[in-house]
Amino acid sequence: MLIEKLVRKNILALTPYASARSEYQGKAEIFMDANENPNETGFNRYPDPLQLVLKEKISQLKEIPVSQIFLGNGSDEAIDLLIRIFCEPGQDHIMILPPTYGMYRVCASISNVEVMEIPLAPNFQPDEDAIIGKANERSKLLFICSPNNPTGNSIEPGKIDNLIQEFPGVVVVDEAYIDFADQRSCTGLLKKYDNLVVLQTFSKAWGLAGIRLGMAFAGPYIIDLLNKVKPPYNINILTQNAALNTLENAEEIKRSTCAILRQREWLQKKLSAFTFVEKIYPSEANFLLVKVHDPENLYQHLITRGLIVRNRSNIVLCTGCLRITIGTAEENARLVKYLANYQ
Ligand SMILES: *Cc1c(COP(=O)(O)O)cnc(C)c1O
Repeated sequence: MLIEKLVRKNILALTPYASARSEYQGKAEIFMDANENPNETGFNRYPDPLQLVLKEKISQLKEIPVSQIFLGNGSDEAIDLLIRIFCEPGQDHIMILPPTYGMYRVCASISNVEVMEIPLAPNFQPDEDAIIGKANERSKLLFICSPNNPTGNSIEPGKIDNLIQEFPGVVVVDEAYIDFADQRSCTGLLKKYDNLVVLQTFSKAWGLAGIRLGMAFAGPYIIDLLNKVKPPYNINILTQNAALNTLENAEEIKRSTCAILRQREWLQKKLSAFTFVEKIYPSEANFLLVKVHDPENLYQHLITRGLIVRNRSNIVLCTGCLRITIGTAEENARLVKYLANYQ
């Protein structure tokens, strides 16, 4: 697919901001180019605009070349930039598969880009015929969230593959929860398709929601576009250092992820024993979507005890549902205790 044809004309024509630090190559000793304060504070210099040291580490871990990695201020930044790169406001649209992550719509709306909704089927899988049937040359981006938030299921790999092949624009597979999933990442498909972007994040399994760091993996052409449009120093030094430190402890993160998965199993069992719990949807993420009698009332019951879950009871296909993030063993036990006192 010729990606260039999908890009907004003004973005193709854009001369990106040339930061002081991106104009020279090689090693220098004295930096009198960027109007920084020369006195050492630990943070007096601007960060590497392309975060190459951090990307090298991520490249080794994910087995993806540096030229195919973009880092954003959260994966939310990548979502916003992709919409701004590909969608002409007032003309183009994105396609989303509700119920799904809310930021796709918010980012599109901020950019005055229309959102076409093709709801998931009742089994929470995409309706491929409807998606491809409704897609046209104005359909620039298709967002597939897998595992999906808030339903928790993975999208079948065969369906993702088909959609990438048949969709006329770029397919963005949001894998924020991939580290909790049995299913394999779609990054393996990057060799096969150049209209694919895979999003991952340090906010969930990596335990670094506070540093704001997200990853986009794609062909070098799309990565270059993202780099051209992003704010020059979008990832600050504190964030880059925190991520590098955590990447040194990848084993520890694996253990913490396994512990969360065991807690998910424990909580799922406990919840299923309550009579007001109608259904617990299978989850490949760090949360459970739970259908209950009178979700408003249960939600309030928990709030008054200082425990917050996400009320999803008013969204498509999630009638009566609360979304519960897996906490620590102690927190999950508290939840179960509060539920035992309910009614
Ligand atoms: C939590 C989440 C993200 C993470 O966004 P960040 O900006 O990286 O924190 C992305 N997509 C989905 C579906 C999520 O649930």
